[in-house]
Amino acid sequence: MGWKEHPYALAAGGAVSLLDQTDHGCPAFSVAAQVLEQNRSFIARHKLGGPEFEIWLLPSSLKANARAFDLGAVGAVFIHGGLLTRIWDALARVVAGSFFLASRFAWKQPGPDADVPGGTWVVANDKRSAYFLEAFGRAVEFVIFHEIAHLRRRHVRRYRDASGHDFIDEAFGMASEAVVGSKLLQLLEFDADATALEMCLNATSWFRAERGEGSSALEPDHLTSELFLRLLAGPVTFLALDLEAEQSAVSYLGQHPPSIHRAMRYTLLLGDTIRSLTPEADIEPFVDQAWTELGFLARRLGVDGGRWHHRRDELHAFEKLDRIADEANAFSLAIDREMSS
Ligand SMILES: [Zn+2]
Repeated sequence: MGWKEHPYALAAGGAVSLLDQTDHGCPAFSVAAQVLEQNRSFIARHKLGGPEFEIWLLPSSLKANARAFDLGAVGAVFIHGGLLTRIWDALARVVAGSFFLASRFAWKQPGPDADVPGGTWVVANDKRSAYFLEAFGRAVEFVIFHEIAHLRRRHVRRYRDASGHDFIDEAFGMASEAVVGSKLLQLLEFDADATALEMCLNATSWFRAERGEGSSALEPDHLTSELFLRLLAGPVTFLALDLEAEQSAVSYLGQHPPSIHRAMRYTLLLGDTIRSLTPEADIEPFVDQAWTELGFLARRLGVDGGRWHHRRDELHAFEKLDRIADEANAFSLAIDREMSS
């Protein structure tokens, strides 16, 4: 039985190969397929170990979810259509609603279309649409690499030993109920995020080097624009996942770490990397601006205060993140050592 016939795929309304969807009528799916196509050679050449796998899209499932199975000779990643359209809509609102981007790039100031999810403008042939597609492509890249990390860093096998499940599921883990292996799952999620971000940045520099643009990629202007695109792509993805969560407060009682903490940690890791490449670039204003945009978006989407806006609560939440961050770093190093031995 192939993955296409797996009960999970059938229950979700059927699976199609993501790679084959480059001409899909839904632009979020066709752009995602193009992103996977572009990254194929990077994924094939940069093996991290772990099983072979296939990447499937569940186009008719509205869930904002993804699942990685490590079962049999070839594993599988399933990406639900709802995850891609949710990220598409959220990012479209950010780009269309941003006065910062509008004035920086001298494009149209935000109008009433800013809050139309997936509005027609996002496939228009203009600079704003092109910028949006750049950001969306980076978000999809992150999601795909995150799932690949679950397989190649042998997360699923580790989680199976603790819980009996032969998969890791993004939405299932958002449920507020703690189960056996919750703490392990939280550390695995942090590790998958860090690995995915590293893969994203490696893929970008690898492709630029292939095209002979290696040195220009290190210029501060180039790096700060890459930084801002990545600052929108990652945290907006976490915010989109958070809309599905049953948690209303920042807590470690569920199976996954709080999305806001994943977004904060992503921001810190990204900032550290860019700073190490270009110590002269002043990245703080970009980080502040990206988080301001996220706060606006969260408010417009009706997310309760205390997670993505209201600074007092954010500061409180930082302590909890600090507590687990050291543990998450040590855990990732342990996996690194295991993989290299
Ligand atoms: Zn995950």
